Amino acid sequence: MSPLRGFASALIALTGGFATTFGMLFKRKPTIEYPSVKKQHAPRFHGLHELRRYADGKERCIGCELCAIACPANAITVIGAENAPGDRRSPGERYAARYEIDELRCIFCGLCEEACPTDAIVLTPRFEMADYRRGSFVYAKDRLLVPPQAGVGTAPDERPNGIPADLGTVAEQKSTVDIATGYDATNRGHILKTERRGLAG
Ligand code: SF4
Ligand code: SF4
Repeated sequence: MSPLRGFASALIALTGGFATTFGMLFKRKPTIEYPSVKKQHAPRFHGLHELRRYADGKERCIGCELCAIACPANAITVIGAENAPGDRRSPGERYAARYEIDELRCIFCGLCEEACPTDAIVLTPRFEMADYRRGSFVYAKDRLLVPPQAGVGTAPDERPNGIPADLGTVAEQKSTVDIATGYDATNRGHILKTERRGLAG
C-alpha cells in the first residue's frame, strides 16, 4: 500500500472512531446514581432468596428437602424436624430445623422455587449481598426467614411496599460474624471447613 493510501485509510478509520465518540456525547446517559437510585429489574429477576410465612405467621417450609434435591449447584442444606404439639412452627408434620443456602454456590436458576410444594422459598429482586468474607454468604434460616410482620402470605413482587429493606438480622450478622465463626454457625459451613479444606475462608 502506498503511503498516501495508508494515510487516507487511517484518516477514515479515525474519523469513524471519533464520529462514534461524538455521537455518544449527545445520547441519554444510562448511568444511574447508585446506590441512592436503584435500577428497576425485570419482574422475573432472580436475586437473594427468602423463606416465606403463611398469613397466620407459621413457616411455609415443611422441611421436605425437595428444593435441596432440585438444586443443581448443591447449594441448599435442609434438616427437617417433627413439629412439637405445643410449639408448631409449620402447618405440616415437619418443619425446617435448619435451612441454609450457600449463595456463592447458587447460580440463581430458580429451580428451588419451582420445586417447593408450599411456595416457601422464593427468589427476591434483592441483589445487594456483597461481602469480603466467604462465611457471610452461607445464609442460615435466621437470615432467610422473613420476620412475622413482613411479607406473610404474599409473594415478594406483589407486596404493597415491595421488598423489605433488610432481612431482619443481615446487617447485624455481617458486622459481628468473622469468617471462622460464620462457617461454624452453619451446617454447610462446617462441612466446607472440615471436609473440603482450602475452600473455607
Ligand atoms: S436458585 Fe438454583 S442454584 Fe440457587 S439455590 Fe435455588 S436451585 Fe440452587
Ligand atoms: S423450602 Fe419448600 S422445598 Fe425446600 S424444604 Fe421447605 S417446603 Fe420443602
